[in-house]
Amino acid sequence: MDQITRFSESIKFKTSAGNWDEFLKFHQFLYESFPLIHKRLKVVKINNYSLLYQWEGKTDESILLLAHMDVVPANEKEWEVPPFSGVIKDGFVWGRGTLDDKCCVMSILEAVEKLISEGFEPKRTVYIAFGFDEETKGYLGARATAQYFAQHNIKIDAILDEGAAIIQGILPQIDPPLALIGVAEKGLASYDLIAKGDGGHSSAPKRNSPIERMAKAIQRISRHRSKVHLTKAVEEFFRVCSRFMTFPSNIVLKNPKLFLPFIERAFEDIPSANAMLRTTMCVTILNAGMADNVIPDTVVATVNTRIIPGETADQVFQRLGELVKDLQIEVVKNEKWEISDPVMCSSLQGAFFNELTTTINEIFPESVVTPFLTIGGTDSRHYKSICSNIYRFAPIKMNSQEMSLVHGKNERISIEGYMKMIDFYYNLLSKG
Ligand SMILES: [Zn+2]
Repeated sequence: MDQITRFSESIKFKTSAGNWDEFLKFHQFLYESFPLIHKRLKVVKINNYSLLYQWEGKTDESILLLAHMDVVPANEKEWEVPPFSGVIKDGFVWGRGTLDDKCCVMSILEAVEKLISEGFEPKRTVYIAFGFDEETKGYLGARATAQYFAQHNIKIDAILDEGAAIIQGILPQIDPPLALIGVAEKGLASYDLIAKGDGGHSSAPKRNSPIERMAKAIQRISRHRSKVHLTKAVEEFFRVCSRFMTFPSNIVLKNPKLFLPFIERAFEDIPSANAMLRTTMCVTILNAGMADNVIPDTVVATVNTRIIPGETADQVFQRLGELVKDLQIEVVKNEKWEISDPVMCSSLQGAFFNELTTTINEIFPESVVTPFLTIGGTDSRHYKSICSNIYRFAPIKMNSQEMSLVHGKNERISIEGYMKMIDFYYNLLSKG
């Protein structure tokens, strides 16, 4: 079986949350597909479905590569091909997981298998951890694996996870694709807002009902602009961008501290750019009412916040409380929701960071490498207490249209793109 057929096969396993048997079948498939890995590397299963591989090196240095086996569900009716068919057509492999994140799982293993077949022995120990619940918090996969490292006193020098890629057309004036390395990650926390009051019959309504007060609160939260924090990751990103800009944008982005108010205004209405500068808050769940003629006595709204490095989840919790204090609304923590502080900036000089940028330049010479702030959450956040050098980069080149395929319909990766992923991990791993 060649690499593309193997990749196509991997897509056929419906490894989404709840389909636990599919994960076991997928493990068996990996076992049969990569015989050398399973002979040479130690494999530990964590919580039944997570896989942790250990490729013992000669020094006491170690790195950890992360990827996840789980995929989000797919609505077959919307797709041009069945989402779990792994069909190969028009130069692409199609299916759920081809971009997020079975491409990483499979290409990492392909690279390792090839290196072993050539007799390569790593200097540092290489750990590879594949989670199974990244799309649903990562508590049983990534978090438990991080605890395993802590319990066994295993130190990790650097981690590489997904969370950024090579993006074409990120800003209008920039021609070359930018290889974004997520060197920091925003925190995430959700809180519940609770408004209580008298219920009653809707035929004789009173003012200031819980719904009315909650509506005011939601409007305030949606319009609220948290203070701008220029993080090191974003500052470095702006500096790289400035090299490709014309006057006056080049001067502005080269000196972001000086022109911060200007940048803030320019970015305010571009959601993804605004999110790089500040903590955001967004109401995502609203619960109230049972019948059309009954005034509910309790309204609950859930606010999802994404926290900029430099602030903490606690500060955001306090701020939410301040925002709704006069509306007699309580802000509470709910066990159901994750509260996770931001992950601070990793070193931009260490040996692994240099190897990462060198490898990107080798495989994607047309791209320009830049530090970046990862805005979404990745499995790697669960490892922040055991490693301070975490980098988020998947070696996939995408334009904005292709980016919408992640979690979307007709997800697919080009055969050429997938083969480059294998080359990338091969070159990276052969450096140490
Ligand atoms: Zn993913």
